[in-house]
Amino acid sequence: MAGIAEGVEVSGGCLCGALRYRLTGPSRRVVQCCCKDCQKATGTGHTTIIAVHRDQLSLDGTPQTFTNEGDTGGKVTRHFCGTCAGRIYTSGDLPGDIILVQSGSLDDPNIISPEAVIYMKDAVAWDRFDPDLPQFEAMHSRV
Ligand SMILES: [Zn+2]
Ligand SMILES: [Zn+2]
Repeated sequence: MAGIAEGVEVSGGCLCGALRYRLTGPSRRVVQCCCKDCQKATGTGHTTIIAVHRDQLSLDGTPQTFTNEGDTGGKVTRHFCGTCAGRIYTSGDLPGDIILVQSGSLDDPNIISPEAVIYMKDAVAWDRFDPDLPQFEAMHSRV
């Protein structure tokens, strides 16, 4: 089981604790994204995100947001703490009201593990991935 099972509730939040959330399974996908925007937004080689329906995230606190245009031309909004800048989730023009929760914001990130790597075309040379994971040059079936 790489994602969050149906009915399982997990908790998470930002670095300073101003934003706290509960996330209820099932998750749809867990992917590592290497796109340029994820690199800039996280300051790392890639980000690991959990795709869920919007209603599955219950957030306490009011995040700040930043919106730009994603690789496929749709609007992408990143939600983060205005105090510590910790990222919580990303929303946008995704089908089915899907949002992407930052797995590192979970209180126990080890409860999930990635299922695929996307945007390999942008991956930096020094990043390393599990060779058993399927890799995709760009978006894979739009998580
Ligand atoms: Zn914070
Ligand atoms: Zn990305």
